[in-house]
Amino acid sequence: MGLTDQDSSSLSKSNGSPEKVGIRLRYQGRVQGVGFRPTVWRLAKELKLTGSVFNDRSGAVVEIWGIPSQLQEFQSLLPSALPTIAQIISLNSEALTSSPPAEFQIVESSLHGSAFQVLPDLANCTACLEEVTQPTFDRYRYPLTNCTHCGPRYSIIEALPYDRANTSMRSFPLCEVCLAEFTNPNDRRFHAQPIACHRCGPQTHLERLDDQHFDREELSKLDEIDAA
Ligand SMILES: [Zn+2]
Ligand SMILES: [Zn+2]
Repeated sequence: MGLTDQDSSSLSKSNGSPEKVGIRLRYQGRVQGVGFRPTVWRLAKELKLTGSVFNDRSGAVVEIWGIPSQLQEFQSLLPSALPTIAQIISLNSEALTSSPPAEFQIVESSLHGSAFQVLPDLANCTACLEEVTQPTFDRYRYPLTNCTHCGPRYSIIEALPYDRANTSMRSFPLCEVCLAEFTNPNDRRFHAQPIACHRCGPQTHLERLDDQHFDREELSKLDEIDAA
């Protein structure tokens, strides 16, 4: 996965910052909807690299600048830093000649490339299950709870690249709390496209056969009866 000597020597030096070089890495495989972009963002920040990561129709693209040894470190560390559901099938790299940007960003998806792989829906992770079953959590009993590691993918994707705007969740704008999670690099919902909660997500309710309303408190009583 690392650069060969030939690749390294062919990398162009960026204007104004002679020791830094830029490369474009095109990853294909299971790289959308698996926390790929947030992982790249964190690793790039750790290694003090600048550039951007975005999805296109064929996978994920990382344009990254730094000194060659750090770029090699980035490439060798990335596969093991990714969530286990992610899978890199192929990687192409090419040199970039433009100047390095000042920081590293997750940017808007590009519509280039041809559709490569859509993820299946993923069963709830243990962290989400805990939130749904513990009354102290905000998402207690919210049935559509999900995060970067779990939740719907195939069922909601209408087009690639995989962004909320290309899913059936686009009709549900994030509330302030969800938006804070979505934009916090240290949150496991950072850039998790399908997130939702009681406030902003699709609502569900149970109906009794005798048409009487079923509320959450009644469900709690039923749980107590079940437990007895
Ligand atoms: Zn989860
Ligand atoms: Zn919300």
